[in-house]
Amino acid sequence: MYSPWKLRKEMIHFSKLIYERNLSSATDGNLSCKIADERILITPSGLHKGFLNQDDLVVIDLEGKKVSGKNLPSSEYNTHLYIYKNRKDVQAIVHAHPPYCIAFTVAGVPLDTEALPEVILSLGKIPVAPYSTPSSKESGYAIENLIQDHDAFILSHHGSVTLGKNLSEAYNRLERIEHAAHILFLSQQLGGVQKLPQAEVLKLIKHGQNLGFLKPPSLRGA
Ligand code: 13P
Ligand code: ZN
Repeated sequence: MYSPWKLRKEMIHFSKLIYERNLSSATDGNLSCKIADERILITPSGLHKGFLNQDDLVVIDLEGKKVSGKNLPSSEYNTHLYIYKNRKDVQAIVHAHPPYCIAFTVAGVPLDTEALPEVILSLGKIPVAPYSTPSSKESGYAIENLIQDHDAFILSHHGSVTLGKNLSEAYNRLERIEHAAHILFLSQQLGGVQKLPQAEVLKLIKHGQNLGFLKPPSLRGA
């Protein structure tokens, strides 16, 4: 594991990148990562995520109690803790508000990722969790059926959640799903999305598994 100082630096870097790439705006979104068995580094609540400093970050324990930091931890800390408790392999979580991903859920249009081989290969499906009030305890429950099988999912009308063994992996998954949503949006403008044949989809899932991109549980959601 990186030193806590390196993890702080990395968190500021990805938080800024998310803002600069228009994957969240203003105070939206939050990031966290494990810095020790019972310690989570998390972004502060209500501050602009494009302009954070290292001393804005907060350390909490697995009950959500603040251990250090001058700010309040993200209001979504319950969701982050819920994921860490239920996915021991996850070391980092990124919640963002990527506009194309959100627009699909606001419009009630399904994300036909079966048209995009690289998405199938690396993530399987990108499921949508039912709407729940942002920053509430219930938002953890809204994702309970998804977290075992998926490393990237959308919260209806709200945002995305991507998981990883580090912040870089969780960020990459965010960038990938928003890029996919953008392509699907453009395809719809051009006349419609042509999904790949089912046999090809299954072949890609197998291939993703052989390459180690998809863990066996991901197959359950595919
Ligand atoms: P925080 O600033 O409290 O992390 O909230 C941002 C957000 O996206 C809530 O869903
Ligand atoms: Zn949010």
